[in-house]
Amino acid sequence: MASSVAGPEIERLIQLLARLPGLGPRSARRAALHLIKKRDALMAPLSSALQVAMDKIVVCKICGNIDTQNPCTACTDARRDRSIIVVVADVADLWALERAHATRGLYHVLGGTLSPLDGVGPQDLTIDALVSRAHDETVHEIILALNATVDGQTTAHYITDLLHEANVKVTKLAHGVPVGGELDYLDEGTLAAAVRERTAF
Ligand SMILES: [Zn+2]
Repeated sequence: MASSVAGPEIERLIQLLARLPGLGPRSARRAALHLIKKRDALMAPLSSALQVAMDKIVVCKICGNIDTQNPCTACTDARRDRSIIVVVADVADLWALERAHATRGLYHVLGGTLSPLDGVGPQDLTIDALVSRAHDETVHEIILALNATVDGQTTAHYITDLLHEANVKVTKLAHGVPVGGELDYLDEGTLAAAVRERTAF
């Protein structure tokens, strides 16, 4: 059995850090050592920030976003355009759109995408809540900001069918050449979609 160089408390810290995305056992060890060396400047504030976040995190009852207030910061922001709802699979996608300042609409977090192979059906996502929000007369457009994957597009089609009854325009993200992208480096699927969905100059 490999002997450990540190006591069980430190080994436990390393094991937990190693579960974070992007951190393997080696980098977890390095991160733990860094925290230990910066106990006052980093470890103590991190520890209390984790505890405060743990105590305060709630899921928004309107849109499914994760925040420390319910309804969330986005839902209660008076400057947002309440005629638009941007549908995302995950909170990470919402954060990405916010970083890009891509929209000033409201959001709806589905909690995943339909995936028959993984056993994820409509009842596992917040699709019913989205449909009822779409029937609100202030809502005019639903933007489906879902992944350009089979599951993402299956989910988009499923939702579009359900929204036929609602008096809203349903749109989806464009597929195409990324900003700064060179045609020669694009995969065939992206390039074909870009030509198919070309726009007037
Ligand atoms: Zn919300």
